[in-house]
Parts: sequence; structure tokens; C-alpha cells
Amino acid sequence: MSVEVIETIDAIRERLHPVLLSDDFMGLVPTMGAFHDGHLSLIRKARKDCDSVVVSIFVNPHQFGPGEDFRTYPRTLKSDLAHCEAMGVDVVFAPSVKEMYPREPLTFVEVDRLGDHLCGLCRQSHFKGVATVVSKLLNIVQPDRAYFGEKDAQQLAIIRRLVIDLDLQVQIVPLPIVREPDGLAMSSRNQYLEPPERERAPVLYRALQMAQQQIEAGETDSGSILGEARRVLEEEPLIEVDYLELVEPEEMQPVSEVTGPVRVCAAIRIGSSRLIDNILCEKPTTDS
Ligand code: AMP
Repeated sequence: MSVEVIETIDAIRERLHPVLLSDDFMGLVPTMGAFHDGHLSLIRKARKDCDSVVVSIFVNPHQFGPGEDFRTYPRTLKSDLAHCEAMGVDVVFAPSVKEMYPREPLTFVEVDRLGDHLCGLCRQSHFKGVATVVSKLLNIVQPDRAYFGEKDAQQLAIIRRLVIDLDLQVQIVPLPIVREPDGLAMSSRNQYLEPPERERAPVLYRALQMAQQQIEAGETDSGSILGEARRVLEEEPLIEVDYLELVEPEEMQPVSEVTGPVRVCAAIRIGSSRLIDNILCEKPTTDS
């Protein structure tokens, strides 16, 4: 028996109607496919928590800018479905672009302020595309819970906020970043890395760890923390820094001083690839 795959909005609504009427707890894991262990950790958690698990696989054109990799984004539906089957997913929703966007959309979901910095600066309208497609998926599937990775921390903050602002009845469940043994955050785009680039890519996590060590040692000045982290990145000649910032975790606004929990966020370019990563840091507690 292979996993049930549904490609149309009408059919998924019909399939999930009895689930919505029942007491069953439903979880949704939205993805763009090309699964790695990060995706699988979300599915595993949803399977553990929920009676019914829906995984969506949709490469959303509206979150890719001109010149970005929409056309070449890895698509591995067959093996993704095999994972879903092995993990006991109930339904995979895998619509076409035409099904999700049969005409040019005129309605979008935009979350002010949270998308202004970090990836929002170099990927214009990316978060508008993400917020809109996630709103559509939540509206179509109507899950009790939806699972997202902290790998995309700014995306997660935006989704959390849109759920609050639009009174959506869903609980957003964040899950930790899954990494390769050398620290590189797993990503479907890691397969773009040429071997010498892959070898150097873990420098991104090392730079974030450098920032974390300083914060945990009591440093509060964001300029010094980021300066040290940047020096780690600059040791690698193949790398260009897109951004390296310290932000407060809820609204993702840059901070000049560490006074509470902060997220260190970075994006680098290495060859033709762009990698993002982040780490949550806490100030040391002072015993009185
Ligand atoms: P994507 O298919 O890249 O859109 O990702 C689908 C979901 O998987 C998003 O919620 C991501 O944040 C999450 N995800 C991607 N990479 C990782 C990772 N390394 N660890 C944990 N979650 C991840």
C-alpha cells in the first residue's frame, strides 16, 4: 500500500472533511519536498503528536525572486513519497502550481516589519510569497497543529505572527535545526555545493557558535560579538557574507545590546549557493 497522494484542493477538502468532523487531532507539515532529515524530524514529531498527519509538497513560485532557483529547485517526489509512506503519513497534498494559482493572484498576506531585515532585504517579496502560501495551505487543510523548522527562523516568526493577527485556529510547533555531523544545517539546497564548497560550508555554524560563546561568556555589545563572528567567516576566502545580525527572537529586529534572549542569524554565499543558519543565545544568568 503506498501513501495516499492528493493533487487538488477539492479532493483534499473532501478527504479531510470527516477528519475535521471527528475528534481526531490533525497535523500539517508544509514542505517544498527534496526531503532530508530536517523534514523527517518534523514529520516524525507530527506522527507522534497527531491522529492524522498531512504533508504538503509544493514548490511555491511566489516565494522565489527573479533569477532565483525556482526552475532548478530539487524535485524528488518519488523518494519523498517513499519517506512519507515509511513514516506512516496519512495523506500527501501535492498540488500543481496551476491548482494553487489558477489565475494571477491579487490577494496576498504580508506581515509588516518582521520581514524587513535579514532575508527580507536580499529576497524582495519572498516572505509575502511564504506568508500567502502558508495561509492558503492552513485554510485548505485546517490542521490543529502545523510544524515548522527553526532553520527558517524569520519565516517561523512571520508565520507565528500571521496566525495571531488573523486569529487562525492552529498551533504552530517549532522544531530545532537538524545538522550534518560537521554542523552544517541540513537544507535541500546543500546539494548545489561543489565538494570544495561543501568542505568549507560548516564555517557558517562555527561563526554562529563563536557569537554564542561570547554571549554566554557575558559579552553584551552586539558590535564586538558580530565582529568576532565575522572574523571567523572572513577566514574562508570562498565566502561572501550576505548578512550577520543579532536580533530579538519575536519580531526579528536588530539589537545593539544583548539584554535577553537573542538570535544570531546569518546568510552567506558560497559559489552559486546561498546558505542561511541561526542560533538562539541566552545571556548567562547572574546569581544574586
Ligand atoms: P522547505 O522544504 O525547505 O520549505 O522546508 C520545509 C520545512 O522544513 C520548513 O519548516 C523548514 O524550516 C524545515 N526545515 C528545513 N531544513 C531544516 C533543518 N535542517 N532542520 C529542521 N527543520 C528544517
